[in-house]
Amino acid sequence: MPIYEHRCDECRAVTTVLAPVSRSRDPCICEHCGSALTRRIVSKPSVHLSKLSKVERMDPRYDKMVDQAMRNTQHADPDRLMNRRGDVTKGLPDKD
Ligand SMILES: [Zn+2]
Repeated sequence: MPIYEHRCDECRAVTTVLAPVSRSRDPCICEHCGSALTRRIVSKPSVHLSKLSKVERMDPRYDKMVDQAMRNTQHADPDRLMNRRGDVTKGLPDKD
């Protein structure tokens, strides 16, 4: 459902109305002063971005910033999963 904006001729305030297209020409009462002298105005378009679009708009330096932030954490250690398992040779027969 589109959002319509109406500017009041009396107080110049803008009233926002969410209405179906079929009611786009309905008169609007100013929510600030109650005047019926309002005109529909062209409002800024609103764009909904997908997560992919948001990622594409991110600062290209973001990946490097994340890498730098992760560098000194335990998640950066490639052996962290092996260390968590403990001694994997425990219980195995001796090689010789
Ligand atoms: Zn008004």
